[in-house]
Amino acid sequence: MALKIGVIGTGAIGRDHIRRITSNLSGGQITAVTDVNETAAKAVIDEYGLQATFYVNDQELLEKGDVDAVLITSWGPAHEQSVLAAIEAGKYVFCEKPLATTAEGCRRIIDAEIKHGKRLVQVGFMRRYDSGYVQLKQAIDEQVIGEPLMIRCAHRNPESAPTYTSDMAITDTLIHEIDVLHWLLNDDYKSVQVSYPRKTRHALSHMRDPQVVLLETNGGVLITAEIFVNCRYGYDIQCEVIGEDGIVKLPEPSSISIRKEAMFGTRILMDWKDRFIEAYDREIQDFIDSIGRGELQGPTAWDGYIAAVTADACVKAQESGEREEIVFTEKPALYGGQPVSQA
Ligand code: NAP
Repeated sequence: MALKIGVIGTGAIGRDHIRRITSNLSGGQITAVTDVNETAAKAVIDEYGLQATFYVNDQELLEKGDVDAVLITSWGPAHEQSVLAAIEAGKYVFCEKPLATTAEGCRRIIDAEIKHGKRLVQVGFMRRYDSGYVQLKQAIDEQVIGEPLMIRCAHRNPESAPTYTSDMAITDTLIHEIDVLHWLLNDDYKSVQVSYPRKTRHALSHMRDPQVVLLETNGGVLITAEIFVNCRYGYDIQCEVIGEDGIVKLPEPSSISIRKEAMFGTRILMDWKDRFIEAYDREIQDFIDSIGRGELQGPTAWDGYIAAVTADACVKAQESGEREEIVFTEKPALYGGQPVSQA
């Protein structure tokens, strides 16, 4: 029987997930929707021919909707309240990043999940489902390059929206590197420093672009991450792991090569949705399948907390120009940490 899914937030990514569940994936059925924009949510029901009911808000959807699980794809500041309500109702939750806008909010979700006694929450860090990153992780885990020593990565977008601010380079852009790199290394962050090279003339006056973030892990790996959101030429994600015995590099997206007018090359994507389209499909399919098996596998509420604490330290480092410490609380047993010993 199909998993009955309610969608809380029918904006851009909410509609995209509805499209993939109804036309690409198996085992899921959208039975309920809600959004602050009622007209838009009702239009989605017609657009995708859903056998779904509209509810005025998340509480009503959770109380009255015929749902086994919810996707939370609303505006970031609304996530925490919806995730907590879903846990309270005992529903599985897929929450787009951010899990909550503050580390304290993520902790409240962790505490609620621990109280429930079982994982209910998966966070939408889709890069872990990208085949290139999966291959990098396998190579690192199998010690193909010995111990990793350094990572060089870049997150480049053709242009930023007028509403984009310098801190969003961390909270909206680098957040994906923050998640995927600690997963790749199976290591935690220890400190961060942010530097600014000469500013591109293509950036709006209120923002710093590009930015260079230097992260250090507990294991001593140094990561340089370039964020350049007005690079003009394309959407380009780079990641190179330098180890004791060699280097592994994220593959370029597959594309035909072109020989033309004395040039040889391949096209570069312009839209982030195209770059990770298969990863989005895999993460939602994994969410559906692992609920069927009774155990979630994907990024946890603890990973949402790691991202929030690290992002806070990065934003602090943007402002201070200093090296800022990154400090986490102890990892709870529910997420693979050591069980707390009884005194
Ligand atoms: P969106 O198109 O703006 O839609 C989000 C929903 O929130 C819409 O219903 C929108 O209502 C509402 N909303 C927007 N601004 C609001 C405000 N100031 N107050 C109250 N409601 C507001 O956003 P989206 O691109 O779908 O993003 C949704 C979430 O997914 C965000 O947390 C984002 O970070 C995350 N996301 C993740 C990825 C990823 O790669 N994993 C990619 C994209 C987005 P209106 O229709 O009235 O604007």
